[in-house]
Amino acid sequence: MKTLLKGGTVVSGTKAVAADVLMENGKILAVEPGIEEEKADVIDVTGRLLFPGFIDAHTHFDLHVAGTVTADDFESGTKAAIAGGTTMIIDFATQYQGESLHQALKNWHKKADGNASCDYGFHLAVSDWNHSVSEELDTIVSEGVTSFKLYMTYDEMYMADKIYQILKRLKEAGGIAGVHCENKGIIEALIEEEKAKGNFTVNAHKKTRPAAVEAEAAGRLLKIAQVADCPVIIVHLSSEAGYKEIAYARERGQEVYVETCPQYLIFNEDVYDLPGFEGSKYVISPTIKKESDRQKLWELLKTDQIQTVSTDHCSFTTDQKAAGKEDFTKIPNGMPGVEARPALVYSFGVKQNGLTVEQMCRLLSENPAKLYGVYPRKGVIAPGSDADLVVF
Ligand SMILES: [Zn+2]
Repeated sequence: MKTLLKGGTVVSGTKAVAADVLMENGKILAVEPGIEEEKADVIDVTGRLLFPGFIDAHTHFDLHVAGTVTADDFESGTKAAIAGGTTMIIDFATQYQGESLHQALKNWHKKADGNASCDYGFHLAVSDWNHSVSEELDTIVSEGVTSFKLYMTYDEMYMADKIYQILKRLKEAGGIAGVHCENKGIIEALIEEEKAKGNFTVNAHKKTRPAAVEAEAAGRLLKIAQVADCPVIIVHLSSEAGYKEIAYARERGQEVYVETCPQYLIFNEDVYDLPGFEGSKYVISPTIKKESDRQKLWELLKTDQIQTVSTDHCSFTTDQKAAGKEDFTKIPNGMPGVEARPALVYSFGVKQNGLTVEQMCRLLSENPAKLYGVYPRKGVIAPGSDADLVVF
């Protein structure tokens, strides 16, 4: 059975035009004004925007971390995604010590396969880099996993000193890395300082991760990427200081892609001073920064300096967060967002901060599709593309 959406405005990364959309068996057949099709189920979408399905390229579902497991698994997480207009998520398959990349991928397929309500893909988070993993890269890329996550902090995921080697191999294999930029040494020392002062409360979290922690790591990463002569993605950018390192690298001629998240666009660091234990809901890393950082991130979105808005969805219940009531370092880090992201970007971005709907389309759909290898199957409403549509 064919379905015809009549009377809407089809949004792409470059324009928003009145057009009807005809689809069948999950694929788009035609996009043009005035389509007449007798045998189609006709849905009147007059006055609505039609976006290509939104892609959230940064989720953590069913992740064992901080002695617990995220509140959302692939079943609840992807239902939330679909409810908010996100038709594809890209989660992080984590390679644990001693595992091959293929083993990690297999482990995450086990979590997701048969449990998901939307399309999904994986980045591979590398934690154990050695000769055989290096050799595995070519096959894993040829099998369709082209993006890799590297952490410059967290003991169990720490890859900062291997980044040069990994980027060189990714360049040969045709992959790209997204990097969590924070300076591990500064964070650990600041945590010790706060605890020595007797500060174990939520408010200490922001004090241990000032913007310079992100900027230092971003600057270091980008210099390593310069030597490796390799493009790189900086995930969840939270600060103006971090962006300055990116601008500097771009001036040098480097190719740098940047992701930010709604939490850095909507809140400022005052959330860590909320009464009681309320601030624990915002305990995430990188931390939510100052009001001036928040404003700067909007400006960077408006001027197309940031390419994607993803969520870093990593949800915990208030009971789980309570593990850190007496010690802020025991609060599991993360917050949700996979369901709310499109509405937030529309409300706060298009309605309040001067983003265009075309920019919203690029940030939430077209750019992640291109960056993560699924364009034009996803990321655009065009004949032949998947009929992942959002009537907004
Ligand atoms: Zn993350």
